[in-house]
Amino acid sequence: MVTAGDVQRALDGRWGWIREEVRTALCDPLFAPVFDMPMDEHRDRVLKQAQVIAEAPGPAYLFPKAVGGLGEVGAAVTAFETQAHGDLSLLVKTGVQWGLFGGAITHLGTEKHHERYLPDVMSLKLLGCFAMTETGHGSDVQSIRTTATYDAKTQQFVIHTPDDDARKDYIGNAARHGHAAVVFAQLMTQDECRGVHAFLVPIRGTDGRPCEGVSIEDCGHKAGLNGVDNGRLAFNQVRVPRDALLDRYGSVAEDGTYTSPIDNETRRFFTMLGTLVQGRVSISGAAVSATKSALTIAIRYALVRRQFKAPGTDREVPLLDFVQHQRRLLPALATTYALHFAQEELVAQLNEVFSTDSESDDVARRKLETLAAGLKATTTWHATHAIQTCREACGGAGYLSVNQLPQLRADTDVFTTFEGDNTVLLQLVAKTLLTNYQTEFGELDTIGTVRFVADQVVETVIERTGGRALVQRLIDAVPGRDEEQSLRDRGYQLSLFEWREKHLLDGVSRRLRAGISSGDDPFDVFNSAQDHVLAAARAHIDRLVLELFVAAIDRCEDEEVKGLLDLVCDLHALSMLERDRAWFLEHGRLTPARAKAVIATVNELCGLLRQHAEMLVDAFAIPDIVLAAPIALGDEAARQRAKGADQA
Ligand SMILES: Cc1cc2nc3c(=O)[nH]c(=O)nc-3n(C[C@H](O)[C@H](O)[C@H](O)COP(=O)(O)OP(=O)(O)OC[C@H]3O[C@@H](n4cnc5c(N)ncnc54)[C@H](O)[C@@H]3O)c2cc1C
Repeated sequence: MVTAGDVQRALDGRWGWIREEVRTALCDPLFAPVFDMPMDEHRDRVLKQAQVIAEAPGPAYLFPKAVGGLGEVGAAVTAFETQAHGDLSLLVKTGVQWGLFGGAITHLGTEKHHERYLPDVMSLKLLGCFAMTETGHGSDVQSIRTTATYDAKTQQFVIHTPDDDARKDYIGNAARHGHAAVVFAQLMTQDECRGVHAFLVPIRGTDGRPCEGVSIEDCGHKAGLNGVDNGRLAFNQVRVPRDALLDRYGSVAEDGTYTSPIDNETRRFFTMLGTLVQGRVSISGAAVSATKSALTIAIRYALVRRQFKAPGTDREVPLLDFVQHQRRLLPALATTYALHFAQEELVAQLNEVFSTDSESDDVARRKLETLAAGLKATTTWHATHAIQTCREACGGAGYLSVNQLPQLRADTDVFTTFEGDNTVLLQLVAKTLLTNYQTEFGELDTIGTVRFVADQVVETVIERTGGRALVQRLIDAVPGRDEEQSLRDRGYQLSLFEWREKHLLDGVSRRLRAGISSGDDPFDVFNSAQDHVLAAARAHIDRLVLELFVAAIDRCEDEEVKGLLDLVCDLHALSMLERDRAWFLEHGRLTPARAKAVIATVNELCGLLRQHAEMLVDAFAIPDIVLAAPIALGDEAARQRAKGADQA
């Protein structure tokens, strides 16, 4: 008999030890969820919680050993992912402090900045912000308009906000607690603009009041994450010393001469942004965790909540026995398992790329950035949809704040927008695929991408991520015609996902080439194919997620767990196929009869997994104290009622 503990071991993986440490830490009543706290009190509570976390080893793993850190980003990001079962305001607050503010100093700064600031960033002695977005420019960060003009006479940079549109907006930690900010601005020196660079700028004095020339506004109450103090920052000719420039990718000499190891401004900009990828990876992991919390609540409730008597009996039926209830919750659970393993691979790649030896491997970096962008879009959209489904699946009880789902929904909603808007991220994924990883991530603008694709003669190449040989073996083993395959044949499923991706990418390439050869405007060519471009990116991520799930199952040593995960993987793959069956029908890869068979097989799989549903959510090992929803904690009276009804 497979137990939740067996499955948990397969899920916990390489950084299981830090997951356990964080789970234990989360059991402190200080981390118990709250839902009706006034905003200011919530902000203070979150700061207090962050101060406790600062004492634990989790954040230190993010920072280099040279400054007292523990230097293992995979462990840090896994700790963050586990922390996401607690208050998401706390998660985002600490993400801003250590991941974004600390991350920018680590990756964009040099040794002098590390020594001077990082120990205080780690300990929270220096609370900071990551000030990139402006009111006027969010997704298009390259066009921000804050300036940092070098004054050679005083050897200072003058940070300036030209107008309200150039204010830094939505900035976490700005409204109350931040004392410094990494400010992104256009660097001007010797009368030339050198593009976006980052500067460390004090924003508050020791008395907590804004520094001279700095204006701070509170963004006020938000739809969720109200324990985070988001604010707006504006700078009126604020002077900072020359070494406030985080100068790993560009420096300014005393006389104002600019030098950079990367000549091309756009390439430099995207290289700088690429070093901050861990933020995106972290939010993706948090989305998976929040989805696990919601599914645990909804599935546990569905096992004890009964409605309607089966005809001819006195027995009321547990919600999870209704096929439609299974269909709402179990495919979402299966996809959450799939995304868990994809996230695990993403974290492993992040750890690999940022370990000192391989940091220079450009292709590995591009692949990491592409997977991070695509997976962040996929996990956060999945969270939004699955959490809403869980809320509805719990009926009125799901709407009560005490049962956590409204808060989870409100707090995770914005995950689709920050750390890169999902739609914009998927376009970056597609551009990288269309250029076969030959350019820096995001380096080419729309016109550049269209021209690049138009000049290429080679076909699109499908790059496999994990378990390359295994996936090829499974696909090769698929004999003959589609109609002869079992829908549950893994090789068949993989080959369909791969075929769709290649078909979509080839189609986009052809459209772009045809548009350019007809002399159309490159922007119009790209824009008219934008839906096609996004579909290709989605197909790419769907294929990778399935491959990574298959590889994870193959790694699993416990045969019984393997068998169970195989069922889960079938449900994931076939519910994706069911979702997109119109496309496969249109493209001749499913006959109408087979499309109907997909629906029937999803039903069958839901029925098979129904008996394992409780164990599959128990395997997430979310501490009761943070789950805290009475409907999830197996309310004893409800359990007894359910038991009595079963015996009757
Ligand atoms: C709670 C919260 C906290 C935040 N914290 C921080 C922080 O600490 N630091 C920081 O710097 N920023 C922060 N942000 C800002 C966040 O990163 C931006 O909101 C985000 O990048 C999106 O930018 P925008 O809001 O200007 O949206 P826009 O870029 O205006 O996008 C609006 C819509 O247009 C669509 N769109 C945009 N471009 C295209 C295109 N080319 N093709 C098709 N569709 C397009 C998008 O998909 C989106 O749906 C935060 C935001 C929020 C809400």
